[in-house]
Amino acid sequence: MQSNKLFLTPDAADKSAYIDIMTATARAVAAAMDHPRAYAGMEPYALREALHTDELLPAEGCDFAGILADVKDRILPNLLRPMSTDYMAHLHSPALLESIASELIIATFNQSMDSWDQSPAATEIEVEVIRNLCKLYGYDETLADGVFTSGGSQSNLSGLLLARDWFCNTHLKWDVKKSGLPENFRKFRMYSSEIAHFSMEKSAHLMGLGYESVVKVPVNDAMQMDIAALRELIKADVAAGNLPFCVVATVGTTDFGSIDNMQELRKLCDEYNMWLHADAAYGSGVIMSAKYAHRVAGLADCDSITVDFHKMFMLPISCSASLIKDKRNFDALTIHADYLNREEDEEDGYINLVNKSMQTTRRFDALKVWMSFRMRGAAGWSEIITRCIDNAEYFYNQLAADKSVEVFVKPEISSVVFRLLPAPDSKEDADTLNKRIRRELLHKRGVVIGQTVCRGHVCLKFTLLNPMLTYGKLDELLQLILSLR
Ligand SMILES: *Cc1c(COP(=O)(O)O)cnc(C)c1O
Repeated sequence: MQSNKLFLTPDAADKSAYIDIMTATARAVAAAMDHPRAYAGMEPYALREALHTDELLPAEGCDFAGILADVKDRILPNLLRPMSTDYMAHLHSPALLESIASELIIATFNQSMDSWDQSPAATEIEVEVIRNLCKLYGYDETLADGVFTSGGSQSNLSGLLLARDWFCNTHLKWDVKKSGLPENFRKFRMYSSEIAHFSMEKSAHLMGLGYESVVKVPVNDAMQMDIAALRELIKADVAAGNLPFCVVATVGTTDFGSIDNMQELRKLCDEYNMWLHADAAYGSGVIMSAKYAHRVAGLADCDSITVDFHKMFMLPISCSASLIKDKRNFDALTIHADYLNREEDEEDGYINLVNKSMQTTRRFDALKVWMSFRMRGAAGWSEIITRCIDNAEYFYNQLAADKSVEVFVKPEISSVVFRLLPAPDSKEDADTLNKRIRRELLHKRGVVIGQTVCRGHVCLKFTLLNPMLTYGKLDELLQLILSLR
């Protein structure tokens, strides 16, 4: 294998080195799939020792075959295999085959999405994908816009930042971009469910508002934001002279997949002149299921939407988008640099996507969406997403019928939270039992499931993002778990 080549070029020897390296890598990766379980099982100290690296930069290197052999020997066997049907711990999905091919194209051409001259066709494709996504989520595509981001956390920050600046511009006649926060910034309030993602607090900190600006709203039995409680909180804040500017609807909570009532939240936001942001990092995928899309129809009513493609959509990390109903709000993120995105460029038809983005250099992640959406079509996608949601419903029903298990919320998406109850003659308390079962599954059985806390109890969690899972396999996993009790 020729391995001292630097780049893929028109030169025949470079091309053949490229093909050799990619082929050898693909073979090594495929061979690493022979292990039947999600995780080989090594405990953390043993794994750390096995991967101890004295010399990251040896005096003399080796050829590509040499480094690939090392990776094959020490790293690949101990990577987690999210494509395994034994893996359901997190909102972390396997990557669809065609999207791995997209990654090869993305990495090989290494386009940078900040300016048109660094990514001509890639820029145009991202614009097309964003326009179609706006349509998919029910926005008016002529008024809406969006941008790809590094993930849900960044998409949330982007949405909330635009909300803050919109509020300051329209209600306080204050330009945050130019002057920083107004003097009364400590009175700003945003509202999210008490089980919303922690990126709300992180964003509040980054935006200079601090955690105290995030008001946590209690949830009802279905784990949705309690709208009546929210109304009282807003009223009390207004009475106290505070400035409510934004409500965050969680469309698929990280633990339960519960969906806040966006129609009701819209009414409340209109009444109090607030921005409605949808954190649909998880639930954005539901739109693809013909059977279940109605559950997220309220997204069209939100002012900004966080979409994650590296969760339910099963595209490789990272892949996310921030969609905005009224594109004029993107002005908050626009800054012109003489070397990169000159104002005159736009007049001549050059689109510089950096104008909408927090990142400067940015990946061509839109290609993954473009290829996978067009290849599988609405029918193919509907089947995949519907199966994940059906699986969750089936598993929930099996659990609900078992007396040794307690279930909490009927799933709206694909997460099922439950806990095992100790056998009547057992000395082990319930929390210890559930923690022990998760560890045993991970290290002794190579099965990776989630653990969380619900209503004060340690619980187990299945996040079902793998459409290859069958009802039979779910029965088998339940029997395995019950046998460890
Ligand atoms: C995963 C998740 C996020 C964070 O998204 P990343 O892509 O991990 O940055 C935000 N909100 C919710 C509800 C999530 O589930």
